[in-house]
Amino acid sequence: MADGSNRVGEDSGAATNASALLERYRLEREKRLHSEGAAQFRAADGELAYILDDPHAPEPPSRAPVREACDVAIIGAGFGGLLAGARLRQAGVEKIRIIDRAAGFGGAWYWNRYPGASCDTEAYIYMPLLEETGYLPSMKYAPGPEIRAHAKRIAEVFDLERDALFQAGVERAEWVETTQRWHITTSHGDELMAQFLCVSTGPLTRPQLPGVSGLETFKGRVFHTSRWDYAYTGGDENGGQTGLAGKRVGIVGTGATAIQVVPSVADYAGDLFVFQRTPPSVGVRGNQSTDPDWAATLKPGWQQERMDNFNNIVCGAASRVELDLVNDGWTVLFADVGAELANMTDEEKRQRQLADLQKMEELRARIDATVKDPQTAGALKPYYNVWCKRPTFHDAYLDAYNRSNVHLVDTDGRGVAEFVEEGAIVGDTLYPLDCLILATGFEVRTSFEQRFGFSITGRSGETLSQKWQRERGVSTLHGLMSHDFPNLFLMGMPQAPNTPNFTHMSNEAAKHIAFLVSACRARGLGALEPSKDAEDAWVHHMLSFAGLKTKFDQECTPSYYNAEGQVDPSSVRNEYYPGRSADFIAMLHELQESGSLDGLILHAASVS
Ligand code: NDP
Repeated sequence: MADGSNRVGEDSGAATNASALLERYRLEREKRLHSEGAAQFRAADGELAYILDDPHAPEPPSRAPVREACDVAIIGAGFGGLLAGARLRQAGVEKIRIIDRAAGFGGAWYWNRYPGASCDTEAYIYMPLLEETGYLPSMKYAPGPEIRAHAKRIAEVFDLERDALFQAGVERAEWVETTQRWHITTSHGDELMAQFLCVSTGPLTRPQLPGVSGLETFKGRVFHTSRWDYAYTGGDENGGQTGLAGKRVGIVGTGATAIQVVPSVADYAGDLFVFQRTPPSVGVRGNQSTDPDWAATLKPGWQQERMDNFNNIVCGAASRVELDLVNDGWTVLFADVGAELANMTDEEKRQRQLADLQKMEELRARIDATVKDPQTAGALKPYYNVWCKRPTFHDAYLDAYNRSNVHLVDTDGRGVAEFVEEGAIVGDTLYPLDCLILATGFEVRTSFEQRFGFSITGRSGETLSQKWQRERGVSTLHGLMSHDFPNLFLMGMPQAPNTPNFTHMSNEAAKHIAFLVSACRARGLGALEPSKDAEDAWVHHMLSFAGLKTKFDQECTPSYYNAEGQVDPSSVRNEYYPGRSADFIAMLHELQESGSLDGLILHAASVS
């Protein structure tokens, strides 16, 4: 950007220098690069294994273990698994078993019950099957309990509840060729034989802890946001944390979870210390109650139309959209900055970078306008391109720092140095604490077995992890199926798209799974799986995005989006599909409409 056009903010009069900002981004990134990358975090094991315990279901289940055959076993009772169940029900599949280690439906919403939990993707598009279940959310951004109740509603409407197996961690799933069935065992002693296996375990499931020494030695109470300890804090998701009165509470982390927790805890804690490594970008959320007049205008098919409208905007196909129906922080971000797409010209990239700098300037200005103490405001400002970290949206987070009991402990990119008996150390300062709340996210790049507690063994006796290790990366067709793993369907996994509306892609995957199961049954087949050639072609297609992803990731501050900054070009195959999700979905629709099973090997039924 050597020409005179490298100024951003001219429209708003800010006239900020782009080169200086980009240099600041680079320096901030350097500060945060960790020699161990994604391996820096520590697992919740050993003395800290209790952190994974389920605070919502302390007793083991009283039901007897189940031993039986079923049509489809679905692992995961979150929205992904529920959508698969619902679409399979619509396709006429009868015997469906949903299995989950949790004691109820909801997935992420079962576990994440911290006070203030809510979804910052619009509820009218995020909460699936609204028309099918006859429900309309109470708010544009629904609170956690309402979302969890909706998961149960879906199970009831689609009759998925009676056969659900809860508090049952899957231990093994193995394809047995002689029976053409998946043999599945659980921690509760259940043994299932299923013709089809659908794995929807969620991308952010197992809590990770800060990779900092001394956590075991801290004498106060420690818990992770996804295992909230209401016995200690008092109250529930709606507030009432009176147990924190007079206490010195520490929150580690400032991601999408922490920004929802901070204002809620600030209402009750004696003193709240927020340990920040990297500031998040915090846009306006603008929650509001559902307008009954608007609700009365909704015509059949409105939810799919609204989901598609949002998706076209966020995947860079805004030219297909005349009116932004959702019109929120996400769509405005995408409209103003856009996503980085393959085949952009240099000039388009330059314009996009300027738009990004401008948008981040606006977000930084929002902090100055909200936070009264200039030093705190300065420390809360994020310096990186907007898509480097997950953007957040909240209307009370920044304002919480105007309270006298809330203290930002900015670690200048270094994080907490050490935990000791009394509290946390940053630099040379000890912060004595009574309670430590870990908002440090979830394991993303550890092995499948570690994250989900089971392995999937295919026809050859090799597990899915072993296969992907041997092939030096994830190998699937469309992120949905894998060669040598007949009748296995993957949901929410790499090589399929992900979007800010996670349930959109789950719904599309679920429809495709229902199509494939129906086709298999209608043709009297025993099994189907991708051919090696079709799978290789999809992997090849994934690898074609390597240049685009690598450059973007290399310039970004570390996060779970870019393997904490340790960027490897070939790892693009282990990521979500970087192309346009709308095009991917259109491809699935074409296959469904034409009834095509191209790329699949069809196995005759060898057992009745
Ligand atoms: P994240 O992984 O996004 O954030 C973890 C936080 O912990 C980061 O701020 C990280 O800092 C910080 N951290 C890690 N180690 C240390 C350390 N040693 N010292 C200090 N800080 C540390 O986890 P979240 O649970 O916040 O969010 C995970 C995902 O869950 C989101 O990206 C989103 O997809 C989803 N989510 C969605 C919500 C919704 O409304 N739809 C709400 C909440 C979560 P650093 O940034 O420097 O790495």
